[in-house]
Amino acid sequence: MDTNVARPILKAASLKDSTMPTPVSDWFLELQGVSKSFAPRSEGESRVEAIQNISFNIHAHEVVSIIGPSGCGKSTLLNLISGLEPPDSGKIFLKQKEVSEPSSTVAFMLQKDLLLPWRSIQQNVEFGLEMTKTPKARRAEIAAELLSRFGLKDFARAFPTQLSGGMRQRAALARTMALQPDLLLLDEPFSAVDAQTRLSLQRELALTLAQAKKAALLITHDLSEAVLLSDRVLVMSPRPGRIVSTIDIQLPAREDPFQRRKHPSYPSYIEQLWDLLHINESGATPGSQR
Ligand code: ADP
Ligand code: MG
Repeated sequence: MDTNVARPILKAASLKDSTMPTPVSDWFLELQGVSKSFAPRSEGESRVEAIQNISFNIHAHEVVSIIGPSGCGKSTLLNLISGLEPPDSGKIFLKQKEVSEPSSTVAFMLQKDLLLPWRSIQQNVEFGLEMTKTPKARRAEIAAELLSRFGLKDFARAFPTQLSGGMRQRAALARTMALQPDLLLLDEPFSAVDAQTRLSLQRELALTLAQAKKAALLITHDLSEAVLLSDRVLVMSPRPGRIVSTIDIQLPAREDPFQRRKHPSYPSYIEQLWDLLHINESGATPGSQR
């Protein structure tokens, strides 16, 4: 990472105003030496160093995947970026502003769809818009457009329990997009759905991110998902999680994973990630390979 380059510039900036932390450049998202540890959950255990000295930057509209062994601090990293928790040390800047609390420009999507069971699918999609006091007619318009895009038009009035897991994840994606965030934080969003549904969800996500020009950070255990959907893959070490490698995915058509999969260079990226995660040594895997 280019923290060595960053430091002198930071110093110069801090001479100007020592009270305001300053981003180094005009990156969309910038992490500077971020660390986080947790108090032990039970007596006798030592403090958990979740992530250590993580620095990376992403551009607006860029999709970056994060892979690494289970428990290496991936979810912790997204929580810090979302502003839900503060880092112990280091700084996070979103659009040149230090992150200190959750912001409506950042949306989270998790493995569990977290739809509200007592609300219809349309009401779920509109939920965030109610929070932001968007007028009713506009809410309905946004929801209708998204439900149609994600193939859920006929299920607008259905309730979450009436939908399959894949459809619920589609609804969750629609709800996430309804907030019109600039940055999507996706924490293993498709790991609980079957393989075939997953392929179509990946395709829809890829197209949506490209068309809506969103930036996204995607945590996944699925190496092919990382390669097919992103511009860059960050590889983390076992805990305490650090970024040990960054791979630029120089494949065309980030909006179309089906096309990417057919590219002659696709297998070599997967192999590279396998090697970096030492999957074929000592039987260790980066978590549950579903
Ligand atoms: P990952 O998402 O990569 O599987 P997590 O970020 O969930 O990893 O967790 C990293 C480490 O931090 C784990 O050892 C986990 O048990 C610990 N951890 C996460 N959140 C907390 C918390 N709130 N309190 C205590 N320990 C935590
Ligand atoms: Mg996690």
